[in-house]
Amino acid sequence: MTHYKIATIAGDGIGPEVTDATVKVLQAALGRDALHFEMLDGGAAHYRKSGEVLPEDTFTACRDLDAVLHGAAGLPGVTYPDGTEVGNELHLQLRFRLDLYANVRPVKLLSGVTSPLRAFEEGGIDYVIIRENTEGLYASRGAGVLLRGEVATDTLMVTRKGTERVARFAFDLSRKRNGAPRDGKRRVTVCDKANILRSYAFFRGVCDEVAADYPDVEIDYAYADAITVHLIKRPDFYDVIVAENMFGDIISDLGATTVGGMGISPSGEIGDNQALFQGAHGSAPDIAGQDVASPLATILSATMMLRWLSDRHGDATLSEAAARIDGAVDKVLAQGAAVPRDLGGTAGCTEMTDAICRALG
Ligand code: ATP
Repeated sequence: MTHYKIATIAGDGIGPEVTDATVKVLQAALGRDALHFEMLDGGAAHYRKSGEVLPEDTFTACRDLDAVLHGAAGLPGVTYPDGTEVGNELHLQLRFRLDLYANVRPVKLLSGVTSPLRAFEEGGIDYVIIRENTEGLYASRGAGVLLRGEVATDTLMVTRKGTERVARFAFDLSRKRNGAPRDGKRRVTVCDKANILRSYAFFRGVCDEVAADYPDVEIDYAYADAITVHLIKRPDFYDVIVAENMFGDIISDLGATTVGGMGISPSGEIGDNQALFQGAHGSAPDIAGQDVASPLATILSATMMLRWLSDRHGDATLSEAAARIDGAVDKVLAQGAAVPRDLGGTAGCTEMTDAICRALG
């Protein structure tokens, strides 16, 4: 079997625990030799020791190896003089320097998980948010203007190139899926505030132009405020949602909550040449080191990584392993063999990991 090298940054807080758990599950599914995990420094604790949040050799490995797997970064109190968090910088630098423009956030209700929206059962919620990841309001980070301690501004940036490629990513993804649970229709919903700002109207306009190349996929629009209501009231209407960076950030936390929370929600950040996979949650310092964190978000992010590698290298063993791991997670949750604490159970990180490895066996 081909060997793939995975640039692995465990990071801070619960990052090392959920990363260890994920490595164990991947090795249980694929054997010990298929993936080589290159463990790399980086994050807020590393910054405290060395003054660097993302050392250059870590960046080089992330750029050159086959994929990037990340636990989480960030610690309370480790901040820059302007008050912004150091930990976020690791991720943001990787996003921009590796040009990971599509942040893919699946929102899917798994068996055995009770949604706060109880009317919906397994598969009744199943959509993917594509958050534009390199522009929008967050492109201003570090470049905003603070004037005489009186006025602060950050600029929202939307480009044709940036919007076009992420819109195309969303339409291509819809073509690979089975449509929205409600009506089986392939649909891309553009989330913006085109009614208020010219930049968002432009974002919508470029999405419209891209939609013309996909007559088999319906285009739909939702203002960012309205979609927070729709994702609660009719989540089954959605298939793929494409959103500007900050709106994508906000609605993916909302979507995650409707299917069990951050501890079960995966994410992949995908560019043309590299991709980074990490659970949707942060470093959760409040529960770090206690073996209580759920490893599910990171494990499900790793199955996204296997599918991405499989497509890229035409290696079906990886997508088969991803399906087996997803199946093992489903089985463990559906049978209640182990239920993590954030889903109302008592299983810690080790117990969840062992249960998934057993289900794989
Ligand atoms: P960031 O800003 O980096 O996204 P945050 O501080 O906003 O991070 P998290 O670190 O995700 O948010 O933590 C939010 C809450 O969710 C915390 O109370 C934490 O304990 C809980 N939490 C996060 N991840 C997990 C997990 N994997 N398992 C269980 N609980 C978790």
